Amino acid sequence: MEGLAISREIQRSAPIWFHQKSTATRTLFTRGQHHKKTVKCLKETHKIVSVSDAEVLARLLQTSRHQSAWNCRCAACTGTRHTHPQCEDPNACFRRAKLMVDSLLPKWNPMLPQPEDWEAGFNVDAPQDPEAKVFNPKVTTYGTLADTFRIFTERIDGGDVAPDNKPDSEPDEEEIIAHTDGSANNNGRDEVTAGSGVFFGQGDIRNIAVRVPVELNPSNQVAEILAIKQACETCPIDIPLTIISDSRYSIDGLTRICRVGRTKASQPYPMASQYRPPWVKYESARRKLR
Ligand SMILES: [Zn+2]
Ligand SMILES: [Zn+2]
Repeated sequence: MEGLAISREIQRSAPIWFHQKSTATRTLFTRGQHHKKTVKCLKETHKIVSVSDAEVLARLLQTSRHQSAWNCRCAACTGTRHTHPQCEDPNACFRRAKLMVDSLLPKWNPMLPQPEDWEAGFNVDAPQDPEAKVFNPKVTTYGTLADTFRIFTERIDGGDVAPDNKPDSEPDEEEIIAHTDGSANNNGRDEVTAGSGVFFGQGDIRNIAVRVPVELNPSNQVAEILAIKQACETCPIDIPLTIISDSRYSIDGLTRICRVGRTKASQPYPMASQYRPPWVKYESARRKLR
C-alpha cells in the first residue's frame, strides 16, 4: 500500500488489526493491560475491525468530563456500559483504540490533518483558457483501499508523512508566467548532453539554466520536463503559475497521462509524480525562448 497522500475514506477502511502502516509492535494488538482483556473486549464486544471503528472509540476520549478511570461516569462511558454491558472498562477500551490509531504513520492516520482537507479548492478558480491545459495538483489517492496497492514496483518509499502542499492564505503575487525549454546534443547516443532553462523575464534573477545530471538519463524529453520541475520548485506553491512549454511530452504527461501517486512501473513519466504545485497551467508555446 502506498501513495503520496491517502484519503480519509481509504484510511478508515483499512483493517486496524496488525495494520501494515502501524509503527507499534504486535503486542499493541495482542496484549491488554489485564491479561488480554482489553484487546478481547475491543474485538468481541465493540467488534472493532477497521481504522474507522477504532477512531470512533478513540474520539470518545474527548467527551466532556471524561476521566481516565474504569468507573468514569461521563456520557460516553455510561452510554457504552449501557450498549455494551460486557465492557468492564470503557476507558481502557477507548485508550487502547486511540493507541492503535496513534500508532499509524501520519499519512495513514485519519485523526491528523491531511492534504484532502485543503486541496479540494486547488485550481477551481483557474481561468478557463481553451489553449491551456490545467494541471491536477491533488496528491491524494482517492477511491478504495485497492487503489493504494502497488505491485511490480521498485519499492520506492513514499515517506511516512503526506507532502505539505498547504497554501499560505494570502499569495503576494497575482500570477507567474514561466517559459521553459530543454534541449539535448547527441540525443539518443551515449555521449548525450542536455540542458534545461526557465525564463521569467529579461534580467529576472529567477531565470535558470541547468545541465541535466547524468543520473537522470539526459535526453530532450528529460530536459524539457526538468525545466518544468525547476520552474515549479522556484515558484511559491500558492500563486497561480502558467508554464509555457513546447514539449507535447511534458504537457500531456503532466495533465493527461500523469496519475498522481503512480509508481515508476506504471508510470512512463518517472519524474512526473514530483510535481505538486496548486495551480499550474500548461499551454503550447507560441513563443520561443531566446
Ligand atoms: Zn468517561
Ligand atoms: Zn470494552
